[in-house]
Amino acid sequence: KPEYAFIGRSNVGKSSLINMLCNNKKLAKTSSTPGKTLLINHFIINNEWYIVDLPGYGFAKHSKSIKQRLEKMISSYILQREQLVNVFVLIDVRHEQQKIDREFIDWLGESNVPFTIVFTKSDKLGPGKARQNAQDWMNKLKDRWESLPPYFITSSEKKNGRDEVLDYIDGINKNL
Ligand code: GDP
Repeated sequence: KPEYAFIGRSNVGKSSLINMLCNNKKLAKTSSTPGKTLLINHFIINNEWYIVDLPGYGFAKHSKSIKQRLEKMISSYILQREQLVNVFVLIDVRHEQQKIDREFIDWLGESNVPFTIVFTKSDKLGPGKARQNAQDWMNKLKDRWESLPPYFITSSEKKNGRDEVLDYIDGINKNL
């Protein structure tokens, strides 16, 4: 069964997004203490496909050895997992483009891994400003990439963007 992975910096709103997509408040653990997911979790949807919850990257407080172990785990899953169809990279819509996100995205691109950007927490800015920030963020990718990946703007708080992301996944699944 196809797998769709979700990844982002700690505290980006990954658990909240996964729960919104699953319609289940308690499936993925949300917490205000970042950096808690150290395992790769699979959630089956409609008995058809999997949401894969990858650990958050770039959590400064992890020791160097844990960071290396995480990087190894994430990169071997992404590069070796045959069932993996697409990686959703989560970005807090309020944030400027950061080195760690840029490096991760460049690595995905260079490795020919299909990916999509999801801007989270749009309710914190309101729709107009969120759209503007997302566009600015995407434009900064243009320096290095000829074609830009698709992107979505979501709010788990307001349940925005849920149908768009699920329709996108359904569309891919139909063509597999
Ligand atoms: P994770 O560490 O990436 O899994 O992030 P969480 O889903 O645990 O969310 C981190 C914090 O951001 C929590 O306090 C959430 O309540 C909050 N949060 C997540 N998504 C949203 C959102 O769409 N809107 C708002 N306002 N807060 C959010």
